[in-house]
Amino acid sequence: MKTPSTNLNLRRASALAAFTITIFFLASTPAQAQTQQLDYLLLGGRILDGTGSGPRRADVGIAGDRIAFIGNAAAAHIHAKQTFSAKGLIICPGFIDPHTHADGYLNDPIRRNNLNYIMQGVTTVVVGNDGGGPIDVAAAFDRYQHQGIGTNVAILTGFGTIRRAVMGMAFADPTPAQLDQMRADVREAMEGGAFGFSTGLFYAPQSFSKTPEVIELSKVAAQYGGFYDTHMRDEDSYSIGLLGAIDETLEIGRQAHIPVHISHIKALGPEVWGKSVDAIAKINAARAAGQDVTAAQYPYNGSGTSLPASLLPPWAHEGTQQQVSARLNDPAQRQKLLAAITENIQRRGGANTLLFTSSHMPELYAKNLAQVAAARKMPAPETALAILQECSRDKTWDELGVISFNMSEQDIDNFMRQPWVMTDSDGSPGHPRLYGTFPRKLRLYVYQKKIITLPFMVHVSTELPAQMLGLNDRGLLREGKIADVIAFDPATVADKATYEHPEVLSVGMQYIFINGTLVVNDGKYTGVLAGRALRHKAAAAGQASGR
Ligand SMILES: [Zn+2]
Repeated sequence: MKTPSTNLNLRRASALAAFTITIFFLASTPAQAQTQQLDYLLLGGRILDGTGSGPRRADVGIAGDRIAFIGNAAAAHIHAKQTFSAKGLIICPGFIDPHTHADGYLNDPIRRNNLNYIMQGVTTVVVGNDGGGPIDVAAAFDRYQHQGIGTNVAILTGFGTIRRAVMGMAFADPTPAQLDQMRADVREAMEGGAFGFSTGLFYAPQSFSKTPEVIELSKVAAQYGGFYDTHMRDEDSYSIGLLGAIDETLEIGRQAHIPVHISHIKALGPEVWGKSVDAIAKINAARAAGQDVTAAQYPYNGSGTSLPASLLPPWAHEGTQQQVSARLNDPAQRQKLLAAITENIQRRGGANTLLFTSSHMPELYAKNLAQVAAARKMPAPETALAILQECSRDKTWDELGVISFNMSEQDIDNFMRQPWVMTDSDGSPGHPRLYGTFPRKLRLYVYQKKIITLPFMVHVSTELPAQMLGLNDRGLLREGKIADVIAFDPATVADKATYEHPEVLSVGMQYIFINGTLVVNDGKYTGVLAGRALRHKAAAAGQASGR
């Protein structure tokens, strides 16, 4: 039997040997390197490293889960077990999507490969946005890791989940005890590896909160180095308005000393079209004053939400589903409800801009509210109320999805040009952004409309989100970084998903590596589940030090 000290020495010796081999390989002269072999080599492509510079011609080598070589492989006598021609291809870090709703998919036996994201070139997704993230983040990470997932995943904890658990659907301020319980929940989530605290202040019950409550909970996330991620209270003119909501977000960041990130930034509805200019000015002023503020955006003029969220006023959401249903069917409330619905239909651009996407409701599917109203021979607000009444009685309430065409191209372009605006998909069922966001931004906004350059697009989709998440070993194409690497054909890269056919995979991604594993080979998915559950650095450090 070996003594403990021999064991330790052996372990030290083998660790040292591995370390020496690595150093030998990285520092070796061409003559010495002849016997060295990597796992993969991509030859003759043009690389964009994620910093915003480039492109330049270089070969890229991968060994284990790391990027092991960038340069001229022939001159350096680098060989690999498998070599691919990347002639004509762009090679860059895998895209990082800071706002998805892939939580459920990653638990699904068929969809856990996250193929709709992989084929967009996305190698890491963030889940738990809009306030929907879990409290027991550690368990969620363990589940993902245990069952295997197609892309890397980072989790945010959610205000909606926490407030509902502590206060139900109460339209009230928390008591001191309730606030303490919510603080404890944020703490548990952050210690479980959450990257930050997400809110969806537009949605009930989060819309019932006031700013100081959100600040108090954000302070807890700040203690762990997390960030504040928000679907703001208003992107339109519902309550405090788009600009008021930006003020609130900046205030939360200042008071809680936390970086703030505005999800899917937009000017929603004709009443706020053009306000991108003022929104950008406010954010630039805050950044100039030293505040850490970023945003993200999807490249579509239609947003995806639910009929109840887009048309009902906050007070109509209060209480249990039974209470909501009773209110919607109460003749005494009818005029008040119709007035609010009429106003909100106008606010979003009219009945013909609301497209139903719930495939389980054949009468509505792929029709807009104006068409359904015409078929039912009723005015649009009465039709909407009737549909809400019908759905409030059963479980289809939460699935009453709509796409709302409510953005101007000018505002989309303005936001997209900002160096602090990342790319997010906000992918949800029935909206093509779930399958097409990143290739669409390349095809339409880089190559066709030339709103932004390719190096800029790659930077805001790789290094910028990696910095926000504190993923120091990802988001850059550099030797020693983890090999989340994509190679795409600029001539063919494109989204294929449309509003009519939203579930079509994107094309043009030729080779994709996730954690050094080949997951797309010559445009085809290899079937491997190579993703990892990433834990926030604060929790990871706690684990390493045995805390
Ligand atoms: Zn959202």
